[in-house]
Amino acid sequence: MQCAESLRVQAYFDREVDAVSATEIERHTQHCSECRALLEDIGSTRTTLRRKIPYVAAPPALRAQILRALDLESAADQGAQTVTPVATAPVAPKPRPAARPVHAPRWGGRAFWTGAFSGMGGAALAAALAFFLVVPVVMNPLPDDLVSAHVRSLMPDHLIDVVSTDKHTVKPWFAGHTDVSPVVADFEAQGYKLIGGRADYIDHYRSAVVVYQHGSHFINVFTWGGAERRLPANTTRSGYHMAFWQEGDIQYCAVSDTSWDEMLGLVRLMREQA
Ligand SMILES: [Zn+2]
Repeated sequence: MQCAESLRVQAYFDREVDAVSATEIERHTQHCSECRALLEDIGSTRTTLRRKIPYVAAPPALRAQILRALDLESAADQGAQTVTPVATAPVAPKPRPAARPVHAPRWGGRAFWTGAFSGMGGAALAAALAFFLVVPVVMNPLPDDLVSAHVRSLMPDHLIDVVSTDKHTVKPWFAGHTDVSPVVADFEAQGYKLIGGRADYIDHYRSAVVVYQHGSHFINVFTWGGAERRLPANTTRSGYHMAFWQEGDIQYCAVSDTSWDEMLGLVRLMREQA
């Protein structure tokens, strides 16, 4: 049986209680292991969500559509009996007004979105949107892991483990530090200067990262041996382009904030080298 304080503990976590209640709950969790575990659980869930799910801005058209749906919702509520909204309680879909034309659900079409959300209350609408926006991202964490690793590498002293412009130094270094032996070549003549290598942990592999400088931009080329997994399509996250390809049983991903053309130029050179 759940502790009677568990709801208040969740409200405390969301900073929805006053100072007196907060003190009571803090005292309670000191001797209630169940509520302590609950706090830890929702804390780690929040941490995971913040780490794994990037901030994605809704397209303006979707935003406008949601606001319109909420307007309709509040207009429908006015005149009806006043109900105090409870944010955490699930909101049952209301029956669709008979006068509104019923469209066949169609993915991606306006009819689907308006149809799907027209009968929902605000909280259910928000939950449903979170589901639709979050699910595709959660299902393939690789691009986000790569962008995180790229951004981390740009912090002071993180970019390069072995500083060298010589492929004969970089390639043997990988042998002792990573699980793969990727293409390492200098393309300085073509504008992509090899500046070194790094070991990084990607997709459960000790990934070898070859680092190039192109003008003022860095291009990290991550490699790992996950040949059994299908690679994601080329994509852009948080302003960083990612180009994926595979040579034999080694998978590659170049990440950079340089332009697509410039980055694909390096990809072409590396593929020719392989
Ligand atoms: Zn308790």
